[in-house]
Amino acid sequence: MPPPTPGSSENAAPEGPRPAPSGRLLVVEDEEKVASALREGLEGEGYDVVVETTGEGAFFRLARDRFEVILLDLMLPGRDGLEVLAALRKQGLDTPVVVLTARDTLEDRVVGLDAGADDYLVKPFAFAELLARLRAIGRRGRGGDQDRLAVDTLDIDRATRRVTRKGQALELTVKEFDLLHYLTRNARQVVSRDTLAREVWRETARSTTLDNVIDVHISRLRRKIDLDHPVKLIHTVRGVGFMLRAGGA
Ligand code: CA
Repeated sequence: MPPPTPGSSENAAPEGPRPAPSGRLLVVEDEEKVASALREGLEGEGYDVVVETTGEGAFFRLARDRFEVILLDLMLPGRDGLEVLAALRKQGLDTPVVVLTARDTLEDRVVGLDAGADDYLVKPFAFAELLARLRAIGRRGRGGDQDRLAVDTLDIDRATRRVTRKGQALELTVKEFDLLHYLTRNARQVVSRDTLAREVWRETARSTTLDNVIDVHISRLRRKIDLDHPVKLIHTVRGVGFMLRAGGA
């Protein structure tokens, strides 16, 4: 049993996902400017923020303190973020971790997720995007099957297949839902038509007809989720495929 935190009223559950004080975040970031901007922004949103500037610091902090979510920069002096993350997971820490990194390569992303990250944000990121991720993590909790996803003001509940944009329910066909869900799960990554054919349409071979079907579904989805909103989510990456992200061409 860790010693009780002064002033804390949290109930210690004997097992399973232990509740951390709601809205308590650990930010592990060595760049002072970034750390203080995060602290200021997140505190402004009502989060309770603790900053550690090294992997070691985070490690010791987490040995005695619990958080709802950890924001972990990868490029840290000494033990880097991935090392810290892998060590924490090995010890059984189940707190959701959002990795922050300046590097945007598929390889880094895969390594990060393999090491036990729950989500990924590439710097510089929009603060609204970070808030959306935190909300999504807060809703689904750890150990859930990512039933809920959020990007910008888009929310997807996989269990009920309900989709809303800015709180407004959207009527999607089964395929439109599957397509949107796939794009959202792979947000900020380019998804090719090949991948969509395989993962959403379950077709092993791509064809011109199928490409057209995919394009038609994309344009219907755009009409439903993006038309009335200034922040567009579905982007075409010319010659490659599509990407779901908040803003940016
Ligand atoms: Ca750094």
